[in-house]
Parts: sequence; C-alpha cells; structure tokens
Amino acid sequence: MGKGTQAKVLMAEYEIPQISTGDILRDQIARGTALGVKAKGLMDRGALVPDDVVNGMVADRLGQADIVSGYVLDGYPRTLAQAEWLDGRLSAASTELDLVAVSLRVDEGELLRRITGRRTCAACGHIYNIYSQAPAVEGRCDVDGSELVQRTDDTEEAFRARMKAYEASTAPVIEHYRAKGRFAEVDGMESVTAVTASIDVELSRLRGWEI
Ligand code: AMP
Repeated sequence: MGKGTQAKVLMAEYEIPQISTGDILRDQIARGTALGVKAKGLMDRGALVPDDVVNGMVADRLGQADIVSGYVLDGYPRTLAQAEWLDGRLSAASTELDLVAVSLRVDEGELLRRITGRRTCAACGHIYNIYSQAPAVEGRCDVDGSELVQRTDDTEEAFRARMKAYEASTAPVIEHYRAKGRFAEVDGMESVTAVTASIDVELSRLRGWEI
C-alpha cells in the first residue's frame, strides 16, 4: 500500500499517466454507471472486482493516446489471470514494457493506520492521512481548500477482507513476475521520499540504466 501516493510521484517524475484501476472503478461509481453499481458492493466489502471487468477497463485505457511514452499501473494486475492477460496483450502488440511489479512491504498495524486515517480531496484527489500527513486545516485540502472525504472501503472490516484477497490472489502475481526477473520489493515502512528513492533504484536496475 502507499501505492497510490507512489504512483502519483512516479507520474510527475517520469511525466507519464497513472492508470489506477481503483480510481477508474471509483469514477464509475461516482457516475452511477452499471459497472459502478456492480463494483461498489464488492469494493465496500474489500473483495476483488472480476478479472474480465478490470481487464476490459485496462484495455480501454491502454487504447488512449497519452500512454505512448509509458504509464504507471497502480493496483493492477492484482491476480494471476490479470497478469497473464496483460502479458498476452503486451506481447501481441509487440510492445516492450519495462514492467516492474513493486510490492510495498508494510506491517499490518501500520497498514490499518494508513487506511483508516486516509482522507482524499474530493476535488483534486490529493491524499492525506490524519495520523501522519494531516492537512493544515482539519477536513480541508491544503491545495484547493475542498472537502476531504474518506473512502467507503477504508473500514477495518474491508481492510481485513482486502488482506485476505491479497494473500490469496495477489501473492501469486509476485511469484509470476519474480520468475520473469521483473519483481522488486521495496520497504514501505520508510518515508514517502525514501520509498520513491528505492523504487527509482529498482526501476533503473530492472531497465539496465546506470544510476
Ligand atoms: P485500490 O484503490 O487499488 O486500493 O482498489 C480499491 C478496490 O477496488 C479493491 O479493494 C478492489 O475491490 C477494487 N480493485 C481495484 N483494482 C482492482 C483489480 N486490479 N482487480 C480487482 N479489483 C480491483
């Protein structure tokens, strides 16, 4: 976790878009689409949305022009079926992707604090944490003064379900990319800046860059 924050930092650093399946789903919910209505129940329980739905969303997003110089995938692929679908799609398009699966390791107590403390600006999406990165004025965004909201799936119950889904479905994704030599683990207990620095090092190593 902390992946949303890190994905936004990488997006700014490399000037490439962030593709967050969680954000796309939340947007569908906010717009009240049929997909959003179906996804909301699953998300509020901390369960995963079916692979074909999520793959379809990613297929649409990868069809847009702004991804030509690269992109950061955030929260995807989360299951082996998604990873295999993505691999197939990329090799069919003969695109060489510097795909890096980064797992942000944090302990459960810390994760719970991050999740129950998380608040997001309703207007610009800036992420705060009431325990560790509180806004200057309670409940208001430092950037634009808009209201800060709490995600409906940021409850302890949903968190426990998400941890289970992670162990059952996402852990095999790590082994999949480890076998391809594309996996890096960074220490998510560090500060935001230190985690970004570790990701940069791993990215450079996997892409064969000198740093
Ligand atoms: P996130 O914003 O990445 O924490 O995702 C929030 C919720 O959206 C997850 O708990 C899932 O219910 C759903 N979700 C996001 N990405 C995926 C995905 N790749 N596969 C299945 N469900 C997802």
